[in-house]
Amino acid sequence: MQPDRCWLQCLGEVAEGPVALTEFGLIERFFAGRGLINPCSTLGIGDDCALLRVPDDRELAVTTDTMVENVHFFPGADPGWLGHKLLAVNLSDLAGMGAQPVAATLALTLPAVDTAWLEAFSSGFMQLARKFSLDLIGGDTTSGPLVLTVQAMGLVPAGAALRRATARTGDLIYVTGELGDAGLGLKVCQGFASDDPADALRRLHRPEPRIAAGLALRNIASACIDISDGLASDLGHILRTSGVGASIDWDRLPFSPAVTDYIARTGDWQMPLTAGDDYELCFTIPPEQEAMLAARLQDLHCSCRQIGSIEASPGLRLRKAGREVPLKDRGYEHFTAAR
Ligand code: ADP
Ligand code: MG
Repeated sequence: MQPDRCWLQCLGEVAEGPVALTEFGLIERFFAGRGLINPCSTLGIGDDCALLRVPDDRELAVTTDTMVENVHFFPGADPGWLGHKLLAVNLSDLAGMGAQPVAATLALTLPAVDTAWLEAFSSGFMQLARKFSLDLIGGDTTSGPLVLTVQAMGLVPAGAALRRATARTGDLIYVTGELGDAGLGLKVCQGFASDDPADALRRLHRPEPRIAAGLALRNIASACIDISDGLASDLGHILRTSGVGASIDWDRLPFSPAVTDYIARTGDWQMPLTAGDDYELCFTIPPEQEAMLAARLQDLHCSCRQIGSIEASPGLRLRKAGREVPLKDRGYEHFTAAR
């Protein structure tokens, strides 16, 4: 079947002035034709596959993340923000591995062809892509409930990827940036009246992947993960896969003034440990790397804070005001989610 016919059958004929927008017209208009900017991309959109050149001494880091309407975002969400966030959450996975972004593919399932929506979505996506010299090299476009999927690829020197499973007893645990702002943004969307919600909403809707920090952590960090499901859950992955435990000190967690204010007003001190969408990095380093870490991250103007340390005894122990406190909620889990 001709692709155009297939497209029209899938999505219904969509008038665009006097000319119907075909599948290839849509791809051409919103996603292709912007040229390839990354030296590793040798063939982009338009053939059955794209082609990437991977230098001999590198490994290709590959990740995919999906965003589903009503699960990851509200109906009517700003399409420019969705385009940005969809790519950002994938780039955050590359950051967590210390990989340099190269290229991505985009699978779109759309309930209808809405050119204004596609214009804003593709702009949000492409702006972030350009910032990291990442090429959109292919994808797929289908009809159905709104589901957005990206597969992102990056390069890392062979053997140098930051892994979850390699933390060791005695290592120090760090996080970049501040925790809980995106969680606060979600609370604001759900009706919490914050005095100053702008930053929290920006962190929720337009997260900035910590690519530069991930690159700087190569050869320093012993383990690393990006925080997408909440610190407690994601640090838990490092601990479980590394076969170790940890103590963290709640009083050392980095919070913005808005999150501090939220906790003071609600008493909900667990929120920044369990809310998702931070997209900061949680990593471990041997103590002798502390000076090197400070120097590298200072150059990037990326703040980081030591929040605890790795211990031999399994499990995550949380101290608050000098006492061990239990953690009730462990972050988002799709198939058991009660949130
Ligand atoms: P095929 O039938 O071989 O899967 P398609 O007709 O689906 O190819 O797509 C044609 C070209 O457009 C391919 O190169 C594909 O990777 C690309 N493409 C399709 N949808 C998208 C999209 N949403 N974003 C970027 N590229 C896309
Ligand atoms: Mg196809």
